[in-house]
Amino acid sequence: MVDVIIVGGGASGLVCGIEAAGRGRRCLILEQKEKAGKKLYATGNGRCNFANRHVSLSCYHSVCEETEPEIGRIITPKSCRETEEFFRKLGIPAVEREGYLYPRSGQAGALVHALEQAYREYGGELRCNETVKDIVWLGEHEIRVTTQNQSYYGKRLVLATGGMASPNLGSDGSGYQLARHIGHTVTTCLPALCGLTCKEPGWNRLQGVRTKGMAALWRDGVLLCRDSGEIQFTGYGVSGIVIFNLSRYAGIELEHGNPVTLLMDFFPEYTKEALTEQLKQMQKVCGYRTLLSVWSGYLPDKLAGYLLGRLGIPDTLPIAAVTLKQLKALAALGKSFSISITGEKGFSEAQVTAGGIPLKEIQLDTMESRIRPGCYLLGELLDVDGCCGGYNLLWAWETGRRAGSQI
Ligand SMILES: Cc1cc2nc3c(=O)[nH]c(=O)nc-3n(C[C@H](O)[C@H](O)[C@H](O)COP(=O)(O)OP(=O)(O)OC[C@H]3O[C@@H](n4cnc5c(N)ncnc54)[C@H](O)[C@@H]3O)c2cc1C
Repeated sequence: MVDVIIVGGGASGLVCGIEAAGRGRRCLILEQKEKAGKKLYATGNGRCNFANRHVSLSCYHSVCEETEPEIGRIITPKSCRETEEFFRKLGIPAVEREGYLYPRSGQAGALVHALEQAYREYGGELRCNETVKDIVWLGEHEIRVTTQNQSYYGKRLVLATGGMASPNLGSDGSGYQLARHIGHTVTTCLPALCGLTCKEPGWNRLQGVRTKGMAALWRDGVLLCRDSGEIQFTGYGVSGIVIFNLSRYAGIELEHGNPVTLLMDFFPEYTKEALTEQLKQMQKVCGYRTLLSVWSGYLPDKLAGYLLGRLGIPDTLPIAAVTLKQLKALAALGKSFSISITGEKGFSEAQVTAGGIPLKEIQLDTMESRIRPGCYLLGELLDVDGCCGGYNLLWAWETGRRAGSQI
């Protein structure tokens, strides 16, 4: 019998294992994939954005909104510094880009190897290709964990199975079933940090377009969230970090049957009047050019043409021949282009899960279950989702370290 069985050899499980094994606990990680940290290899486009120096509570959310402030008991202003130091001591120095931290090598694999080697160095055991199917408490400090191959026995249990996002990388939602099995509840779970779909006419033409702007999500005249940066147009709808950050809000509203509108401002640096004035100036300085060619100086040409099409303005018209009313309408559309959101891209393409085990069921000073003492729950399995930028991994490391240093 080992001291601790950790279900899931991902971000939170590995860090928990390092902390616990480093304190002399005999640990066994059971991982269903062929290797540990499979998802970590894919993070940050293979570079692993593992933390963010600009961390604040506004970067984190819970589906159970009333427990959101509790996240601050785990994520503090020190979290990033301590995580950076943790990895530095494992031989993974960080580089920073606008607050985002990455391993200096630019390779997620370096970080996974460091985690796994440290864990083994402390005597931790890792068994891959082991899918945990069943958990039974035989006594207060005797737990039987059964995989498709055999049963293992431990005194304490850690569930670090992740959520449901990108199930091909391991986290297939089975952790929720295990948690339910031991008495926990699970909130509605929705894909987050993913693209949004729409059904606008002729949208396919915009595939591949990228432009900077501000995107805001509205429900019935209520602003839900907004973010600025690069907006990417795809055949199915919209994508990119800005959209990813809005996606959880869209998912929650659509789940409740509420219509959601995405409003994009492609000219945050201008007022509508200033943009109209710009176009009027263009009539004077190069009135002989077509409206489309001038407008394409402001926006990617496919998007410029699409907006003209929406207004029914012929794109071959010389700009000098365009009426003031048309210029104003064009400026207004560039400042406020709205589409109806029909859905989210789904768990297969999401980076994270919104929802999970409610925080009120966890003692956050130790990560121990309030429902089943002796069981600890970590990472994305819990009802916490962060914005893009290293915040989700930071949550995984912090919950893993917290539990590992207490078990
Ligand atoms: C493509 C992609 C890119 C991302 N990029 C970033 C980024 O740059 N920065 C960032 O902060 N976040 C990023 N994330 C999110 C981040 O990777 C996750 O939030 C984080 O890995 C969650 O950690 P975790 O330990 O809770 O779960 P995971 O890291 O998902 O680990 C869970 C592990 O448990 C195993 N498991 C599940 N069920 C069982 C079972 N029944 N038996 C045995 N094993 C089981 C899984 O195989 C998996 O290895 C990204 C996510 C994706 C999908």
